[in-house]
Amino acid sequence: MKKLTILGSTGSVGTQALDVVSHLGNVRVIGLSTNSNIRLLEQQIRRFRPQIAAASDEKAAAALKVAVADTNTKIVSGEGGLCEAASFGDAGAVLTSVVGSVGLLPTCAAIEAGRDILLANKETLVTAGSLVIRLAREKNVKIIPIDSEHSAIFQCVQGGGDIRRVILTASGGALFGKTRAELDGVTVEKALAHPNWRMGQKITIDSATLMNKGLEVIEAHHLFGVPYDDIEVVVHRESIVHSMVEFADNSVLAQMGVPDMKLPIHYAVCYPERIPSATPRLEFSALSRLTFAKPDTDTFRLMPMAIEAGKSGGSMPTVLNAANEAAVAKFLSGKITFLQIEGMIENALAHHKKIENPSLEEIIALDRGIKEALA
Ligand code: MG
Repeated sequence: MKKLTILGSTGSVGTQALDVVSHLGNVRVIGLSTNSNIRLLEQQIRRFRPQIAAASDEKAAAALKVAVADTNTKIVSGEGGLCEAASFGDAGAVLTSVVGSVGLLPTCAAIEAGRDILLANKETLVTAGSLVIRLAREKNVKIIPIDSEHSAIFQCVQGGGDIRRVILTASGGALFGKTRAELDGVTVEKALAHPNWRMGQKITIDSATLMNKGLEVIEAHHLFGVPYDDIEVVVHRESIVHSMVEFADNSVLAQMGVPDMKLPIHYAVCYPERIPSATPRLEFSALSRLTFAKPDTDTFRLMPMAIEAGKSGGSMPTVLNAANEAAVAKFLSGKITFLQIEGMIENALAHHKKIENPSLEEIIALDRGIKEALA
């Protein structure tokens, strides 16, 4: 029986991960966590009977404690509670599906405790990729990606061989084909209307700006040790090919499937086995065609901006990520326009004096400082 803790279990990936766990039937849930959605977390506690559950929000945690006083689940709170849940008991793996750099410390706590990481929290690798990968190596811990593109790459390299080039596919997001002038007046509702993937709000906005693909290039660089110049992004509107790897002999392997996050979640939970999943099968005769094109980086400037920050390295990706989290939150609450997201991030990067090899403490302080300044 596999033993799994899910951080961020009330979010989009978290709830789908619990669906996968229910389908598999042989996974024991050790820990769960939420930011403040205690109504759903209470239902999850009653259904999956974890040993521990965390709510980041202190007030929510206090209310949850009362609500589940009749169960055996230990309730913890705050950032410390999230780290305790991440390393609690004898879980073999921790699935990290919290949103944003708030995942950094609990991910480190889970690695320190020797847990494999099923990574759906890309911001942790963007903000502190070098440190996290080094720590995972030291502790002999596997990082299995859940991000669909990275799951595809991970699956493509299972047969071995040196990667010559990674081809990351991008759906193009909700605003594909728009001009700069059209982007100016984009509403939250329009930006949230993703054509192919059902995801949380933050990542759906990141998809609309193409920042998501920039963050994923940085994620791929750290996960697979591939130089930035060997990572190419292609727009693939159909989201059937989830990414590809080219090898030394010019052979290219692709991983395909219907666009459903349960498939990469299922793969990560079952790895290294292949077990029947609940995801629909791919019907090739129903696909009229698969298309590939260059991304429009003149219109969607956040993707090249992110890749530049990644190449520059040091503390630049931390600044990029923190400014993006702050800007997306402001856009979602109606305080700035769609194109102002870009301006806020550009400005934060321009005014930052790079730290070459930031420590964990420096990264956390920088992340908090930028988010406070831009809130
Ligand atoms: Mg992705």
